[in-house]
Amino acid sequence: MKQRQRIAIYGGTFDPVHNGHLEIARRVTPLFELDEFLFLPALVAPHKQASRVSSSLHRYAMLAIATMRDPRLAISTFELERPSGQYTVDTLVRFRSQLGESTDLFFVMGADSWVEITTWREWRRLLTLANFIVVTRPGYEVPTGDLGLETSFTVVDVRGQTEPLGSLPPSTEAARVFVTDVVLTDVSATAVRRAAHEGRREELGQLVPYEVADYLRKYKLYRNSHET
Ligand code: ATP
Repeated sequence: MKQRQRIAIYGGTFDPVHNGHLEIARRVTPLFELDEFLFLPALVAPHKQASRVSSSLHRYAMLAIATMRDPRLAISTFELERPSGQYTVDTLVRFRSQLGESTDLFFVMGADSWVEITTWREWRRLLTLANFIVVTRPGYEVPTGDLGLETSFTVVDVRGQTEPLGSLPPSTEAARVFVTDVVLTDVSATAVRRAAHEGRREELGQLVPYEVADYLRKYKLYRNSHET
């Protein structure tokens, strides 16, 4: 039985939110028996500054309509409301200090993000601030070894498990990185933007909820994007 509160934060650009993101939220929440799953749209993801990102308001609006009917899925505007240049490490410090000791904090990311973790600002410190949930993504291997990193964290491989995990291994000084394959969806925001740009309605309908498809048509998002 679970005694402690569990909150997960899922950071990303969400330009736009797509069925892959939503599937992660809907499957990870019961698997880890989360009390709340928070999407955390970045003002502009630091590693994506070179590309043009839709306005925060559009990205927020699409997240809001996509999660409206899920009581445990919510959005944190924390990073959208700060000056730019907020890094995940700063955000986790703030969340950690605001949540009581009786709350376990999780940070969710895809396998493609995890393999780049050492490029994140203050990544060693970052790993001490939360548990991590790494979700498999087609085309990306999830290394479960120590990644050659000279830092201590424990990889808890829960691949193959689809039922609620119940009590989790006790937390030690080392961070815990849970690897789950409860979701394996081949959807990306890049594919959504391309489908929108090329006016492929049917494909769009398979990549995002229909409300999001309607929204991005209505506001003509990605019409002029020229991604290859
Ligand atoms: P883009 O195509 O623009 O790079 P994206 O689809 O990766 O976007 P982001 O908003 O950048 O979407 O992703 C936020 C987080 O969600 C990242 O940690 C990313 O690894 C993860 N993620 C996105 N789509 C998937 C997916 N289909 N499976 C697993 N993880 C995913």
